[in-house]
Amino acid sequence: MTGRSGRTVRDLRRANRTAVLQRLYFDGPLSRFELGPATGLSSGSVSNVVADLVADGLVEEAGSVDSDGGRPRTLLRVAPLSGHLIGVDVGETRVRVELFDLALTEVARAERPLEQRRYDVEVIVDHIRTGVADVLDASGLAPARLLGVGIGVPGIVEHTPDQGAVVHGQTIGWDAIALESLLRAGSLLPGTVPCFIDNGARTLGQAEMWFGAGRGARSALVVLFGSGVGACLATPEVEHGRAVEWGHLTVRVRGRRCRCGALGCLEAYAGAESLLARWREEGGRVPGDTDEETALEAMLAAAHPPDGGVADPVALAVLEETAEYLGAGLSDLINLFQPERILIGGWAGLRLGPRFLPAVRRHALSYALRHLAQKVTIELGSLGPDAVTVGAAILPLADFFARGGRRPEPDSGPRRPAWQAALRERATR
Ligand SMILES: [Zn+2]
Repeated sequence: MTGRSGRTVRDLRRANRTAVLQRLYFDGPLSRFELGPATGLSSGSVSNVVADLVADGLVEEAGSVDSDGGRPRTLLRVAPLSGHLIGVDVGETRVRVELFDLALTEVARAERPLEQRRYDVEVIVDHIRTGVADVLDASGLAPARLLGVGIGVPGIVEHTPDQGAVVHGQTIGWDAIALESLLRAGSLLPGTVPCFIDNGARTLGQAEMWFGAGRGARSALVVLFGSGVGACLATPEVEHGRAVEWGHLTVRVRGRRCRCGALGCLEAYAGAESLLARWREEGGRVPGDTDEETALEAMLAAAHPPDGGVADPVALAVLEETAEYLGAGLSDLINLFQPERILIGGWAGLRLGPRFLPAVRRHALSYALRHLAQKVTIELGSLGPDAVTVGAAILPLADFFARGGRRPEPDSGPRRPAWQAALRERATR
């Protein structure tokens, strides 16, 4: 049956389930009484929807609170074990796979280092496949309990109608890779578990906005500072965030060669890989035969000796110059997007942050327009270096909410991420 607004009874029921699930998830535990004003539903609708969700095993009781003189009110929450999610971070140094319950508590994890920075598609697909198998094995979880697998990748992700997510990862040599089709063709995922692919900076941004230092901000820019750099812009207009290819902003005309092939990109100066390369070029003793994280640690220790010894002036100079490049790069984001908050995440950003942040902040504010600079705060992300996997797991979680907590139909075709459906729905309302 279709109403005058074009929405069917089924749409309405789904929207009500979505509203109750989301409020319980983000603000719960809540009583039925509190759910009314929180969702805008009548008390009768709340009772019906809650009864449905309890019958489906998605909502459970979580104690009770006294009401003013009346009977105690039962508190409700989303049942953490009613579904599981997998988040995958295809990073620049490793593929990390984490299995979460619905409350995003980690249940199991698997890591596959990328030897010699080899990003061959077959290798990555194999790492994802075996990583997913490993976390399912380790947890003893039946694949049918999975609500989906979310994957964060470097590069621009295009959602196409026939091939699903296609990745344009110029810095890792991926030219229009139909990753979603490849994963489906290789029966990566058991049964019909849906898979969602998006840019890693965007998944990080989503995680910080939903659960981290971005909560409550109207607009924020979340920076992923790892081997390279990227950013995610979240504003009321693009509420689920948009990846911006910040690393390829030109900061010096005819400057250093970037991994993308162009000259003078920010990523050729900032990002752990270029930091270490520049230290090496200036004569720094970059430890050979070690991974990037250990090498960056050594650079930091050389610049700021923990025992109070003599600082390596070259390491210090390269780090200080990088802080200025980062600050200048942030000032462009401030001038262009006028965010209320800037959050710096990513393993290198978080590692350097405590020493780096005051200088980065100072440079950003001095390069930006004064009026805009006065309105922005620059802080570190609060979710730690694994935030990309948390953000990747949010992709199937958002889809689960958008479906009103129903499992996806067993169709194995490419699907649009929930946020696209949500935006379309909003546009036609
Ligand atoms: Zn570039």
